[in-house]
Amino acid sequence: MSARDWHLPDEEATIALGQRLAALLHGGLVIYLHGDLGAGKTTFARAFLRALGVGERVKSPTYSLVEGYDVGNRRAFHLDLYRIADPGELEWLGLDSLAEPGAVVLVEWPERGVGALPPADLAIHIGHEGSGRTARFDPASDVGRRLVDDLA
Ligand code: ADP
Ligand code: MG
Repeated sequence: MSARDWHLPDEEATIALGQRLAALLHGGLVIYLHGDLGAGKTTFARAFLRALGVGERVKSPTYSLVEGYDVGNRRAFHLDLYRIADPGELEWLGLDSLAEPGAVVLVEWPERGVGALPPADLAIHIGHEGSGRTARFDPASDVGRRLVDDLA
């Protein structure tokens, strides 16, 4: 299946879409979240992680760059690379664990981490549309394609 667009009239719609995607997920997944500041990337990631079962508060990784969570027997990671000028800066973060099978990874500003990140299963592009948003789901692996199919 090819890319799929969602109209998200308000924040609740962004949250609901994140929750629906999380409910379909069984194994690991790498999501790249594209969009300007204020597009709703963190809103989506937070809803997704909470629905996945992250019990604790989902912080924004704006300053820490990466936050890790235990979700059952899986690890989940939420990255925000806005403050990265060069992907080389990511070396000290020890991002090897992102590539572990079964890891669930969400990356805001993934274009700033090129070469240091595992490849995406799903790229999500969020843009403004009136007072709401549109989200384009662009699958990049079989796992991503199956999820986008199942969401339909
Ligand atoms: P980003 O992480 O992309 O910088 P945030 O998620 O931090 O963006 O903030 C986005 C802002 O937009 C929040 O105030 C949120 O309530 C709002 N928002 C999220 N989704 C929508 C939507 N579909 N329509 C309108 N506002 C939204
Ligand atoms: Mg953000």
